[in-house]
Amino acid sequence: MTQATYVVIGNPIAHSKSPLIHAAFAAQFAGHPAVAGFLYDKLLAPMDGFVACVAQFAAAGGRGANVTVPFKEEAFRLTETLSERAQAAGAVNTLQLQSDGSWLGDNTDGAGLVADVLRHIDIQGKRILLLGAGGAARGVILPLLAQEPASLTLANRTFGKAQALIAHFQPNTPIPLQACEFAAVAGQFDLIINATSASLGGERLPIADSVFAPVALAYDMMYGKAETPFLAQAREAGVTQRVDGLGMLVGQAAEAFHLWTGLRPDVAPVLDWMRAQL
Ligand code: NDP
Repeated sequence: MTQATYVVIGNPIAHSKSPLIHAAFAAQFAGHPAVAGFLYDKLLAPMDGFVACVAQFAAAGGRGANVTVPFKEEAFRLTETLSERAQAAGAVNTLQLQSDGSWLGDNTDGAGLVADVLRHIDIQGKRILLLGAGGAARGVILPLLAQEPASLTLANRTFGKAQALIAHFQPNTPIPLQACEFAAVAGQFDLIINATSASLGGERLPIADSVFAPVALAYDMMYGKAETPFLAQAREAGVTQRVDGLGMLVGQAAEAFHLWTGLRPDVAPVLDWMRAQL
């Protein structure tokens, strides 16, 4: 078991960039009492051993953890106290040990996305097209709605999943929400967010070029050294502001760091540094 006080737990985990990001955040506050003893490591949990791994980590002095694939839903079920955004997401990506020894479960993915989008455009009053209805899409809906967009349209390959998410969120918001199929996406949007994993397989989405035309920002949650297929599609359709998901990754980490330490790190230099490492 690691001696670290904070970890990212997943399987696989070797590829995770979270230790680099959190070390860079902690370095910004060197000497501050809130980061005294802050040591962040990777923790590989067996596929059938997430709960035991978390218990061992706590017994060894662990104070907080990030949770990644494939354990976010299991962490949601394990946690007794959930933040509102974790409840809405149906998944937990951040755990914080409470004084009574129980875990608080939070989800910082949506806040990370929103903070990154806000570096480029305002969301208030904007028409959003969100592509995808998996875990990442579900996790960002509540934080996006909190920014008071004019509308949110959700399109997904499996239409029923988009419909189910809209039915889940619409009763609690006056903002008009709509589910639709990719081929049926029409109308004008200011912000398009790709929360599908289509880019991972090098695939483009069957969205008409005309849908991209008036868009102020195209955002792909996937990131990498090369331009993603979705952002190439947006560029060819004439969208000038195109952003990948590296800032979301650093942003969700910044939110977790804040939860654990009460400190708000400066994201921009860490994002630039991470970009240079890709
Ligand atoms: P899920 O597996 O939960 O959902 C995948 C989604 O992608 C579903 O809506 C699925 O549609 C859709 N999809 C998959 N393949 C295709 C395809 N070929 N064409 C069209 N739609 C497709 O994944 P997540 O929601 O967890 O993750 C989605 C993406 O977001 C990933 O690329 C992930 O890396 C990224 N991500 C980035 C983060 C960051 O910090 N930057 C954080 C979290 C996620 P269907 O329902 O029809 O199967």
